[in-house]
Amino acid sequence: AFDVLVIGGGPAGASAAIYAARKGIRTGVAAERFGGQVLDTMAIENFISVPETEGPKLARALEEHVRQYEVDIMNLQRAVKLVPAAAKGGLHEVRFESGAALKARTVIIATGARYRALGVPGEQEYRTKGVAYCPHCDGPLFKGKRVAVIGGGNSGVEAAIDLAGVVAHVTLLTHGEALRADAVLQRKLHSLPNITVLLNAPIAEVLGDGQKVNGLVYKDRLGGEAHRIELEGVFVQIGLLPNTEWLKGSVELTERGEIITDAHGATTVPGVFAAGDATTVPYKQIVIAVGEGAKASLGAFDHLIRSSAP
Ligand code: FAD
Repeated sequence: AFDVLVIGGGPAGASAAIYAARKGIRTGVAAERFGGQVLDTMAIENFISVPETEGPKLARALEEHVRQYEVDIMNLQRAVKLVPAAAKGGLHEVRFESGAALKARTVIIATGARYRALGVPGEQEYRTKGVAYCPHCDGPLFKGKRVAVIGGGNSGVEAAIDLAGVVAHVTLLTHGEALRADAVLQRKLHSLPNITVLLNAPIAEVLGDGQKVNGLVYKDRLGGEAHRIELEGVFVQIGLLPNTEWLKGSVELTERGEIITDAHGATTVPGVFAAGDATTVPYKQIVIAVGEGAKASLGAFDHLIRSSAP
C-alpha cells in the first residue's frame, strides 16, 4: 500500500507528490491526464518566478520534476470511487474505471475542475485564440481591445468589472432577464463607463477569421432577431465545475461540489486530504494550486507520523 496516494496530476497533484516523496515515504500519483488544465492554455504569465511559459511546457516541467523522485506515476487512470478506511488507521481504497484498485494510508485528492462551456459554434475552434475562461489569467492579453463576458452571475459580473480596468470595452451578455450577481457588484458594474450590459441575449455563435476571434452573434430572446458585435475576445463565465462527482457519499462536498477542507487541507474523512481547484479554497489559479498541494501533502505527512504505531 502507498503511504500517500495522490489522485490528479495537475499543479496541485504534482506539488503534493513532490512534497510527499521528499519525506521518503511511498508515494503514488494516479491521474486521468497528467498536467491537468494547464494543458488547455498557451500563455501563462502569472506563475511567479516564471515570467512567461506555455501550458504544455509547464505540464512537462511538472511531470519532469515529479519524475526526479521515486513516485509511481499512473497516467490515464480515472478514479471512480473512494472507499474510506473502515477503522481509524486503516487503509483507504481508490477504485478506477479500468477495474484496478489502489490502497493507501492517506489519500490526497487533486482532481481539479473544468470550466463549463457554452456549446455554441466557434467556441472550441477559437479556444485560446480569443475565447478565454479566466480573467485573472488572460485579461492582460486583451489590453486596449474589446471583449464580451458571457454570464450574469457573480463570476460574470466580477469578470466584467475586472476586465473593464484593462480592456477598451466590455459587453456583458446574459440569457436571463436580469443579472443574478450580488447588488454591490451590480452597483459597481453600472458605475463603470466602458461596460454595456445586454439582458435576454443568449450567445449563438463565436465568429472569427480562421485565426482569431473577431465577433459574436447573439439572439434577442424577446424580439427574436440575431445581432452581431465586433470584438476581439470572449470570456465565458457560466460556471466552474469541480471534478468531484466520484466522491459523493465519501468526503463532504458543498452544494457546488467543492471538497470541504480545513487549513491543513484535511477533508471530513481522517487521512483523506484535498488541494487545488477541486476544493473550497477560493481563486482557482496555478500558483494557489501548487501551494495548496504542498500544504495538503504536509498535512498528510503530519497525519501519518501521528497515527503510525511506534
Ligand atoms: P487541474 O489542473 O484541473 O488538474 C486535475 C488533475 O486531476 C488532472 O490531471 C486530471 O486529469 C485529473 N483528474 C480529474 N478527474 C479525475 C479522476 N476522476 N480520476 C483521476 N484523475 C482525475 N491559472 C493560472 O494561474 N494562470 C493562467 O494563465 C491560467 N490559465 C488558464 C487557462 C485555461 C484555458 C484554463 C482552463 C485554466 C487556466 N488557469 C490558469 C487555471 C489553472 O489551470 C488551474 O487553477 C490549475 O490547473 C488547478 O490545478 P489543479 O491541480 O487543482 O487541477
